[in-house]
Amino acid sequence: MSEFSIENIGLKVGLEIHQQLSTNKKLFCSCAPLESNEYNIKFQRKLRAVKSELGEYDPAALFEISKSRTIVYYANSDSSCLVEQDEEPPHNLDTDAKNLVLVIASVLESNIFSEIYPMRKTVIDGSNTTGFQRTMLVSQGGHIDVDGENILVQSICLEEDAAKLLNDKGNIREYSLERLGVPLIEIALEPVEGNPKKIKKIALSLGRLLRSTKKVTRGIGSIRQDVNVSVKNGGGVVEVKGVQQLDQLEKVIEFEAKRQHGLVKIAQKINSNFVEISKINDVFDITDSFRNCESKIIQKSLKDNSIIKAIRIRNFAGMFSYSPYEGIRLGKEIGQLVKFYGIGGVFHSDELPNYGIEEKDLFIVKKLLEIKETDSFLIIAAPLEKIDFAINSIIERIGKAKNGVPAETRLATPTGETIFLRPRPGASRMYPETDIPPIIVTKEEIEHAKKNIPRSWDDSLKDLGKKYDLNLQLAEQIFDSTYLEIFENICEKTTISPTFVASILCSTITNLERNGLNPKLLKNKEIIKSFEFLTNKKITKESIEIIFENIMSGKSKTIEDAIRNTAIETISKEDFELIIENIVDANKDIIRNQKERAVSPLMGIVMKKYRGKISGEAANLLLLEKIRKFLENDL
Ligand SMILES: [Zn+2]
Repeated sequence: MSEFSIENIGLKVGLEIHQQLSTNKKLFCSCAPLESNEYNIKFQRKLRAVKSELGEYDPAALFEISKSRTIVYYANSDSSCLVEQDEEPPHNLDTDAKNLVLVIASVLESNIFSEIYPMRKTVIDGSNTTGFQRTMLVSQGGHIDVDGENILVQSICLEEDAAKLLNDKGNIREYSLERLGVPLIEIALEPVEGNPKKIKKIALSLGRLLRSTKKVTRGIGSIRQDVNVSVKNGGGVVEVKGVQQLDQLEKVIEFEAKRQHGLVKIAQKINSNFVEISKINDVFDITDSFRNCESKIIQKSLKDNSIIKAIRIRNFAGMFSYSPYEGIRLGKEIGQLVKFYGIGGVFHSDELPNYGIEEKDLFIVKKLLEIKETDSFLIIAAPLEKIDFAINSIIERIGKAKNGVPAETRLATPTGETIFLRPRPGASRMYPETDIPPIIVTKEEIEHAKKNIPRSWDDSLKDLGKKYDLNLQLAEQIFDSTYLEIFENICEKTTISPTFVASILCSTITNLERNGLNPKLLKNKEIIKSFEFLTNKKITKESIEIIFENIMSGKSKTIEDAIRNTAIETISKEDFELIIENIVDANKDIIRNQKERAVSPLMGIVMKKYRGKISGEAANLLLLEKIRKFLENDL
């Protein structure tokens, strides 16, 4: 095993960014995109084969169908209507979304088409009630400048977001519809050579460009990156889906580059005498021969009436366990592949005897398959209706191993690895949307878009810093956060220092989140209300953190509840004076000793007891006043 170095492997990455647009309506109906987990509509569908109008079945579609699923949809009538349920044709395209995508295309100097043709893209995982996603190619070409380098834009599309996956268990998959039909802009960049850091920088710049319009949704899940990754002499391009964070993006590219280069090394090691596996001559049914095998997995499969088959691979010994880099093995690839069919039981000769499969069992297999020293074999246990499908895909995968990297779609894991998702979809995935006429883009609309190009990210930061007297770091933090809009709202509505507001929104909430609390429980409305309470002196600066902590830990829902539950109702002016006087009375010796400097230890006593209930600033002033008065009269 060698150490992986990402330099000089000819890494190429094409970024595809999907960003939700923050409009008041969905793309093809008047529903508002509201997040809610209360549903008053429920219906279900069976996945069916959709024959695309070009006449060919889509391989990715067939793949999903092979898993035969029932899809259950949940909807809230506030955020979805008959359009999302596929009971009514789409309405007209939302003009706000159209105008915004024209603005973004203009910023990137992309060539906008005068006619846009809505298309249907087959989706078969159930994430769309119609079985397709509507997408429109708006423009082609263009560029974005990143650190002085000109990164080229391939295309810009306007499309519908998919339904949100709630649950995926057994043969039932559940989705909710509030996100279905929300406008998305898809920006595909030309593949660039470079390292993961550079790609992350490009994604960051593009994200900032989008955010500078102030009309895109912020926060986790509102921007998603797909990456097309390839390495020199690797063979296929791999599409990795579902990257939601920039740090994850960097790790995913790093992992995928290592995996692909590992597969190239595996290909180089494959024996030149390796012959393609024959479905007829190299696959053997060993169900009966394995009845006495004591492996728990085999015995469970036999009890479930599964079939057990063995596949012979001539001149392939050692290839499944050969690990050019840590965690990269052909055996692992095969394991992930069959897992996709819901099959857990696949064993390769390099790892046996193991898992309860003993020498005596292997003796039977080797004899039946006429295995020589240089050969290898696989044992697979699966239900009758799945086994041949799985075996065909294994044979195809091993065949492709000699070419390096197979073109496929993979899924990014939260820890930054990638796992097999499905084969790359075929070209027949798109066909025209017949329910919507072509959309005309007028010269006036393009002119209007060009006039509405937003200030650049750098200028926006300077503007923000100047307007609210924020330092650059805080301005950057607030601009990249999910809270820019609330921040501006609070600064307009209240007289509180913008720097204080920004640091609560950026640092305090983030710190609480790092401690495991849930920021989603803290609704925007409550954040704004808390600063209004602060302006009206109903709460103190110090209590904001206590309140947010209480809400983010799920103990309260509203500010009012949190104030009650944490008992931080502010103390009346009279009581406040009394408290301070009592503390002065009880600590006469300290004051006599330290004179005015006693304010410091006494403040400690006050704040320990009344943190959140009284303002630290006011307490300090009053305490100093009382100490001075005491010293004057203490003769
Ligand atoms: Zn609707």
